[in-house]
Amino acid sequence: MDCLFCKIINREIPADIVYEDDQVLAFNDIDPKAPTHLLVIPKKHIATLNDLTEEDQTVVGRLPLTAAKVAKDKGFADDGYRVVMNCNEDGGQTVYHIHMHVMGGRRFTWPAG
Ligand code: 5GP
Ligand code: ZN
Repeated sequence: MDCLFCKIINREIPADIVYEDDQVLAFNDIDPKAPTHLLVIPKKHIATLNDLTEEDQTVVGRLPLTAAKVAKDKGFADDGYRVVMNCNEDGGQTVYHIHMHVMGGRRFTWPAG
């Protein structure tokens, strides 16, 4: 499948992986928008949030669990952090394999741009 993040999962493209289990992978974003900027992805290829089905509940539930785990491991969980999932063009999605951005190490403003 011609999907960038599936290629990272399959080690066809290198990435700086910080966490992996049987269902999810977390790695550093190549173009960080914060001192720490990770992407947490399901190992199952799901193109957008709109493509989720009931059977994806468990794996998708692991995305925020992994975000919190990594935030604790990196030491910014108590200070706080931002998680974002972009959907389709208006949401700013550029890679069509769902991913949770996890950004920490600075103060964020709201609303996001
Ligand atoms: P989106 O815009 O779809 O919400 O987020 C896609 C993210 O993937 C962007 O933050 C972008 O910097 C990141 N990205 C794109 N290509 C690569 C890559 O080859 N490796 C890594 N680690 N991140 C990538
Ligand atoms: Zn994929």
